[in-house]
Amino acid sequence: MAVFEYAPAPESRAIVAIASHYGLFIGGEFVEAEDGHPFKTVNPATEEVLAEVTAAGPRDVDRAVRAARAAQEKVWGPMPAQDRAKYLYRIARIVQERSRELAVLESLDNGKPIRESRDVDLPLAAAWFFHYAGWADKLPYAGLGPDPRPLGVAGQVIPWNFPLLMLAWKIAPALACGNTVVLKPAETTPLTALAFADICRQAGLPAGVVNIVTGAGETGAALVSHDGVDKVAFTGSTEVGRQIAQTLAGTRKRLTLELGGKAANIVFDDAPLDQAVEGIVNGIFFNQGHVCCAGSRLLVQESIHDEVLDRLKQRMTTLRVGDPLDKNTDIGAINSPAQLAKIAELSEAGQAEGAERWSAPCELPQQGYWFPPTLFTGVTQAHRIAREEIFGPVLSVLTFRTPAEAVDKANNTPYGLSAGVWTEKGSRILWTAERLRAGVVWANTFNKFDPASPFGGYKESGYGREGGRQGLEAYLAH
Ligand code: NAD
Ligand code: MG
Repeated sequence: MAVFEYAPAPESRAIVAIASHYGLFIGGEFVEAEDGHPFKTVNPATEEVLAEVTAAGPRDVDRAVRAARAAQEKVWGPMPAQDRAKYLYRIARIVQERSRELAVLESLDNGKPIRESRDVDLPLAAAWFFHYAGWADKLPYAGLGPDPRPLGVAGQVIPWNFPLLMLAWKIAPALACGNTVVLKPAETTPLTALAFADICRQAGLPAGVVNIVTGAGETGAALVSHDGVDKVAFTGSTEVGRQIAQTLAGTRKRLTLELGGKAANIVFDDAPLDQAVEGIVNGIFFNQGHVCCAGSRLLVQESIHDEVLDRLKQRMTTLRVGDPLDKNTDIGAINSPAQLAKIAELSEAGQAEGAERWSAPCELPQQGYWFPPTLFTGVTQAHRIAREEIFGPVLSVLTFRTPAEAVDKANNTPYGLSAGVWTEKGSRILWTAERLRAGVVWANTFNKFDPASPFGGYKESGYGREGGRQGLEAYLAH
C-alpha cells in the first residue's frame, strides 16, 4: 500500500573497480596459490559473477601463518604501542575515506541494501578501528594486569552476513594487542576483505601483519588446526563452532566463538507501540534477517497481540524489497541459494506444524535469490520455527500473559546471544533484563552496536566477548 511510487535511486557502481581475478594476500602482497584452486563469487541479487577468487590450500595457509609469525616476532610485537596505534588510526581513516566504494562492493557481493552497508556496516567498521587504535597504547590500564602480552598469531574465520564489519571486529583488537592475523572471509563474500588487503598496503602496514586467505570450509579448517596459530576466533554456525572446539580441545590454543541465536523480542502491554513495531521490523528484517542476534521470536503480551499484529503487517507492506544498490531498498537479496533453501525449508516446516504464515505482498525480482518478509502467528514453543535459527526475514510470533511467563519463554532456547524488552517502565526493564539469559539485552531498541560495548553469548551462542575493554582479553596473555 505505497502512498506514492518511488523513482529508482540507484547508487552507481562505477566507484568500484573489481578485478577479474584475485590471489591470496600473504606477506604484504597478492600471490598465486601453491595448492589452491579458483572459485567464483557472485552478486546474489543478479547471479552475475563478480570475480574469480582463490581457495587457499594447506600449503598456502602454512605460508600465511609463517608470514604472520615472522611479522609478529620481528616487527609488530616489538613495535612501540604508540606506533601500532598510528597504523590502526590510519586504517580507520582510509576505511572512512573509501567508505562509499566499500559500501557498494559489500552490497554487490553480499546482497544487503546500500542504505545499510552505507549507514551501518561502514561507519561501524571504521569506528571499531578507531576504538581499538585508542586502546593500543593503554593496554596496561585494561584491567588485565600491568603488562599484558600479545598471544602471537591469530587465525580468524568470519561469516558472510557482515563481511567487512566482522573483519573489523576480528582484526582491530588483535592488532591493537600486538598480534598478527591470518583471516579467512566467507566463500560467498570475499571481496571487501580483499579490498581491505589493499587498504593495509595503502596504510603502509608492515608486511605479514594482516594476511587474507580466501576459500571455503576446508581452508578454514586448515587455518584453525594449523600448529602455528596461537589463538582462534570464529564467527558462524553453532555446528562448525562445535567442531572447531572439539579440534582444539587439549591444545594450547585460545578460542573464542560467536555462534547463532534465537533472540526473543518481548513487547509488554504498556510499550510505546509505534516504536515497538519499528523495533520488531528492525530486529528481524535488518540485513534480511541474516543476523545472529536477530529478534526472530516476537513475544507479545496477549492483551495487545491483535493490535501489534495489525500494525506490524501494515508496516511490513511498506517494506521495499529489491535492488540492493537502490537507496530506497529496505530488504535486499538472500546471500546464497543454500541459505534461501534453508529459509524456505524452515518456513514450510512452520506451515506443516500448524503455524499460520503471512508474507507482505511484494514483487520479487526474477533473477537472484529472494524471500519476502514473512511472519508466523500461532507459533508454539515446540515448533521448529520457534527453536531453530532461520537466519532469514522470518518472524515467529508467540504470546505471553505475565512477565514471568515472558522470561520463561524467552529463556527456553539453547541459545543466549541477545534479547529485546519493550515497556514504558524502567523497573520492568531491569526486572526482565536481570532474568534473561542473553549476552546483550536491548531496552526499547534493537540491533544497536557500539565498539565500546561488549557483545557475545551464553550456551550454544558461544563464548568470549568482542568489543570494548572486554574484547581485549581474547587477544592478551595475562
Ligand atoms: P558456517 O559456520 O558454515 O560458515 C562460517 C565460516 O566458517 C565461513 O567462513 C566458512 O567458510 C567457515 N567454515 C565452514 N566450515 C568450517 C570448518 N570446518 N572449519 C573452519 N571454518 C569453517 O556458516 P554458513 O554455512 O555460512 O551458515 C550456516 C548457518 O550458520 C546459517 O544458516 C546461520 O544459522 C548460521 N550463521 C551464523 C552467523 C553468525 O553471525 N553467528 C553467521 C553466519 C551463519
Ligand atoms: Mg558474493
